[in-house]
Amino acid sequence: MHEGAALSVSGGTVVAVGEPAPGFAPVRLAGKALLPGLVSAHGHSFQRAIRGRTQVRHAGRSDFWSWREAMYRAAVRLDPEDVYAVARMAFHEAACAGITAVGEFHYLSRDPAGRRYEDPELLAREVIRAAREVGLRIALLRTGYARGGAGIAAAPEQLRFVDGSPEEVLESALRLARITERDPAVTVGLAPHSVRACPAEWIGTLAAEARLRGWPLHVHVAEQPGEVDQCRAEHGLTPVELLKGLFVLGPGTTVVHAIHLAPSDVDALGRSGTTVCACPTTERDLGDGVVPADGLLRAGAGIALGIDSFVQVDLLEEARALEGNLRLVRRERGLLAAAGGAGRIDALAARLYGFASAGGMRSLALPGGTLAPGEPADFVALDLRDPSIAGASAQDLLPAVLFSAARTAVKDVVVAGEPVLVEGAPPAGRPAASEVVSDFERTMKKLWGG
Ligand SMILES: [Zn+2]
Repeated sequence: MHEGAALSVSGGTVVAVGEPAPGFAPVRLAGKALLPGLVSAHGHSFQRAIRGRTQVRHAGRSDFWSWREAMYRAAVRLDPEDVYAVARMAFHEAACAGITAVGEFHYLSRDPAGRRYEDPELLAREVIRAAREVGLRIALLRTGYARGGAGIAAAPEQLRFVDGSPEEVLESALRLARITERDPAVTVGLAPHSVRACPAEWIGTLAAEARLRGWPLHVHVAEQPGEVDQCRAEHGLTPVELLKGLFVLGPGTTVVHAIHLAPSDVDALGRSGTTVCACPTTERDLGDGVVPADGLLRAGAGIALGIDSFVQVDLLEEARALEGNLRLVRRERGLLAAAGGAGRIDALAARLYGFASAGGMRSLALPGGTLAPGEPADFVALDLRDPSIAGASAQDLLPAVLFSAARTAVKDVVVAGEPVLVEGAPPAGRPAASEVVSDFERTMKKLWGG
């Protein structure tokens, strides 16, 4: 925490912190606190289109699997313009929450009948275009999706997600990398969807290709007990054991969710330095369970956070729910504070904020998240007089922000030195909030009527 310090930025990069660098034009931020930008390492922007439509108790069991049926109904309806309008809404909301970078786990790659578009990267490009218009940094994690489950072909509503081979997935990612190479705020990675949707050879192939290129590799793991059971039935292994055997675990890999873990799974993730991306607001919305982040951290795993289904768009809520859910389970507080942080008022909040910023950047194979010289100038300025954090001192500001800040406190958002929000609104040259919302309203009406 620096009081009255200057952050000097040049060419989209932080060059100095403390005294203003000579020759730089100062921008005063009186009454504001400047923090590293928040990073959502995992999300599916199209799922913004089902917000509010899944909170229903079905006649049968209502759970992850019934939610997934509703998600598929949306996925089959979206045309490329809809994908763009929904993603732009999702990313605008993310910017308003102080998010500067998103990992988009992108599996909507074909038309509703499962055919390629004439431009095979059309839908990924629409998502990237939406993020860049709003001003966010985006890592497009091109997803591989092969099947409905072990020995089960893809259902008609899954055909949009399915590729013929891992080579096709890689070719698509390489095309996207070429298309976007001039924009340093766009990167690509690979994401075998899950051990459910991909056979082992797909996961192994995509992981090897990602490693070769220094790309991030993401995979959904152990979100539901049913997925673990299916993996045991197919391979005789837990999902984590399967990934370990395929040499997929390691610092370049992020496993998303990692909820239903055996003690040996926790150990394997920790020893390999794998990142676990927790998505607590989605996980509680879907009734998935609680990420055992305390054990994972003790074992040596990294932690990132993701808004996943966009049921809520608030990375600070993800961070506080990571700790809060564990408090409910363990009936203890301060569970995720670093060893050695005992008694320090901001130690827990600093660690949780790190998961929400640097942890996410690391998961996306990007530098940054601490605003040190040489890192990307991705940051957020909060209003110290916002009712949710007013009255905090330098000592307790970070815990106040982490545990209590409302989105109204977010005033300015900057990505690679470029303004994304100024005093709470997109600056000239970016789509106005009213335009983003109106387009989205029209799309929702088209999709769902009413
Ligand atoms: Zn997901």
